[in-house]
Amino acid sequence: ETNPNSWEARADAHSFYGFTDLPTIADRGATIVTSGHGPYITDVHGRDYLDANSGLWNMVLGFDNKELAEAAKAQYDTLPGYHAFFGRMSDQAVMLSEKLIEVSPFSDGKVFYTNSGSEANDTLVKMLWFLWGAEGQPQRRKIITRKNAYHGVTAVSASMTGKPYNSVFGLPMDGFLHLTCPHYWREGKDGESEAEFTARMGQELEDMIAREGADTIAAFVAEPVMGAGGVIPPSEGYFQTIQPILQKHGIPLISDEVICGFGRTGSDWGCQSYGFMPDAIISSKVLTAGLFPMGAVILGPELSDRLTRASEAIEEFPHGFTASGHPVGCAIALKAIEMVMSDEIKGNIARLIPQFEAGMARLAEKKNIGEWRGRGLMGALEAVQDKATKTPFPGNLSVSERIANACTDQGLICRPLGQSIVLAPPFILTDEQLAEMFDKLEAALDKVFAEVA
Ligand code: PLP
Repeated sequence: ETNPNSWEARADAHSFYGFTDLPTIADRGATIVTSGHGPYITDVHGRDYLDANSGLWNMVLGFDNKELAEAAKAQYDTLPGYHAFFGRMSDQAVMLSEKLIEVSPFSDGKVFYTNSGSEANDTLVKMLWFLWGAEGQPQRRKIITRKNAYHGVTAVSASMTGKPYNSVFGLPMDGFLHLTCPHYWREGKDGESEAEFTARMGQELEDMIAREGADTIAAFVAEPVMGAGGVIPPSEGYFQTIQPILQKHGIPLISDEVICGFGRTGSDWGCQSYGFMPDAIISSKVLTAGLFPMGAVILGPELSDRLTRASEAIEEFPHGFTASGHPVGCAIALKAIEMVMSDEIKGNIARLIPQFEAGMARLAEKKNIGEWRGRGLMGALEAVQDKATKTPFPGNLSVSERIANACTDQGLICRPLGQSIVLAPPFILTDEQLAEMFDKLEAALDKVFAEVA
């Protein structure tokens, strides 16, 4: 591929790639996407790929959804843009906030709009710093999250993220604390039961609160299932152990549902799948089914009352983005919520889940798959050199990258994350497409495991 006019070379010449394995691109060139249909994307060479990651977890209603496009078009024809400053806001934003509170687990609350999940987490932290400093309270500033968590890329949300790669930026900033990742299979000690592991996670939180001082901690933020950490569901009873500890110390529990909400885990919200009640929810991605950049902080009744009072005390809440509550984004979101929560889509998710689990369990029987894990329509297969000892392949083999590349060669997009391969297919998948996904993945696994054995 030395033709300087090729799409691949042109991409290389003037575009940066984010979160991309550069040796893979040097080797193979980028995939330049021009169109999509259903769960498939099509590249500049006319090749189709089944996208088993729904884009980035978000394009759950497919790549050519006409109803969503029509909702966008209708809004572009009516009020194509507006803001939410100075006491003005679009009718679409008003309606979307009502809808979000209606479909949230909260009895009441309020919504603030951003352009992304990262900014929603940033906004949440600024809200917490603001309200903890109000009403004569000490300004609690520390935020507790977990190692391996992913909360975004802005300076604050990257500090919440518990990934070692952020050290190249000198992050996390002070006051962002990370607990152990509640992944029993990897983090459990020899002879430790899952219940003992969960209890240890709780004790670690207790110890951290005691060490730091409860009155310095603004919130605990967690994804119900860690997504970009490698699809890691919490150990059994995790949130039931964590929540009472937080309640005892008056520390809000925030559910980052950017991936889990709505539908991905088989419930509307991940917190419902795991039976806990957060004080606020962070939403994005499925919110607009990937058709518009948008995030939302959904505050439950208590935090929303406190933020309202703190704002009234200084006569405003000094925060917002130019495109907060963009009417086209809101119109798309209203349609996306209606569709994702329809009997048709919920029924398809419920129908797909057992087949998805069976497919994952079948592939997990391979001798180089250490475990499969997941919830609902999100799952990961972790590659290991030795199944009994859970020994990973040496890093220089880049096994998960190789599997993902072999999948691409077969016309399947799936994501390498650490030593795992991650699947999070669209909610509109058919049985045939699900079978295609697993057949192609299996062929890729067999090819790569034969090479590295
Ligand atoms: N929170 C979670 C759980 C996410 O998975 C992501 C993105 O993948 C984010 C936050 C950040 O969202 P964005 O990429 O829209 O900034």
